[in-house]
Amino acid sequence: MVSDLIEPTLACWREEVVRQVFVSANAEAILKIPLCTRHVDDFWAWSGDPKGRFSVKSAYKLIHKMKMGREDWLDEAEEMSSGESKGWSSIWGLQVPSKLKIFTWRLARHSLPTSDVLHRRNMLPSHVCALCGAADNWRHSLIDCNYARCVWALSNEDMVQHMCMQRDDQAKRWIFLTSESLSQEEFTTMIVTLWAIWAARRKIIHEGIYRTPFSTNGFVTSYLADLKQIQKPVDRPPTTPRARPTRQPPPDDHVKINVDAAVPRAGGRGAVGAVCRDASGVFLGASAVIVNNIEDPEVLEVLATREALALADDLYEHKVFIASDCMAAVEAIKGGTAAAYGNNG
Ligand SMILES: [Zn+2]
Repeated sequence: MVSDLIEPTLACWREEVVRQVFVSANAEAILKIPLCTRHVDDFWAWSGDPKGRFSVKSAYKLIHKMKMGREDWLDEAEEMSSGESKGWSSIWGLQVPSKLKIFTWRLARHSLPTSDVLHRRNMLPSHVCALCGAADNWRHSLIDCNYARCVWALSNEDMVQHMCMQRDDQAKRWIFLTSESLSQEEFTTMIVTLWAIWAARRKIIHEGIYRTPFSTNGFVTSYLADLKQIQKPVDRPPTTPRARPTRQPPPDDHVKINVDAAVPRAGGRGAVGAVCRDASGVFLGASAVIVNNIEDPEVLEVLATREALALADDLYEHKVFIASDCMAAVEAIKGGTAAAYGNNG
């Protein structure tokens, strides 16, 4: 019986019993469920809706969420080894504008429109390079084509040598490997150069505008210099502090209780507090409670409200305003949420 797991006088879980009966993950999940402190008859609640009421819409949402979750999990299991996620973070972590990150990401996914890609998509009659007539692919366009070679020849020799040592045909693996073997600065230079070569090729092919390899190299150098300049911390003028919101007093015959919740960085538990003051701001009383195992801020905010009501009771105050800064908790209480917070509202 569930009631065997609950200490009725203290309205808390018998933690030792829960941990003995259930495997650790399930025990943790159970201990995170807040318990009701009042006597309420048992009722059925639908877990797919915060109010505990069943609807077709919420059932559809729940099934959809489960399906997406499983698909994501399968995709990740297929693709994401730890080396892979490190490789992607080397791209997304680059200190460059997002258009360069997106260029790199497209390159990694083999989705830059090189002739071979366009040919495969039936958008070009042939897969040859529009500049030199050799078979085109990402490596040809960006590294091996004559134009690209001329630009790389003007670049940092050491970096180019390292870059050329990686011969992987798969662009993603090639990028990940070069990101590991180059310094952050060299890797950034390589990405900016790849991007500049790609842009120069497109200018030649689609607009008939020829930019010499020398000027493309000059563009890369000045672009990198600009990037460095942007990354330098700038002396900002001190900002004027925002006006603090002033306390709104309750009507004369009411008291006001401010509630708040906090979770320590280590997690594992939460704390809730409530401070009661009268209309003129005079302190009447306060209460603070540590809640073991619960670290969901929204649930804690609701528990803080429960604590506020208990405090009001202790102070014999019956006309009470409760102020919380958690919109979701306020909405949930207003909406008579039954399920998500153990029916504490
Ligand atoms: Zn070519």
